[in-house]
Amino acid sequence: MRNNERCLKCGEKTFEIKKIAVPTTKTTKAKIGIDMFYLKICQNCGYTEMYSTKVLEKVKDPVKNY
Ligand SMILES: [Zn+2]
Repeated sequence: MRNNERCLKCGEKTFEIKKIAVPTTKTTKAKIGIDMFYLKICQNCGYTEMYSTKVLEKVKDPVKNY
């Protein structure tokens, strides 16, 4: 997720970034965890991409300007 990315649907360059928490349930254990995700919402058409913060935190070029 970089600032110069464009919407896959319409090419819009303006996005709203939201950070959300999603409860995750592991079926083998009665344990509920929380995964954090970034939502990248196109401000033109509303197309939304979801990114896992677990992966993003390993990336050298993290999200900025959100
Ligand atoms: Zn769009």
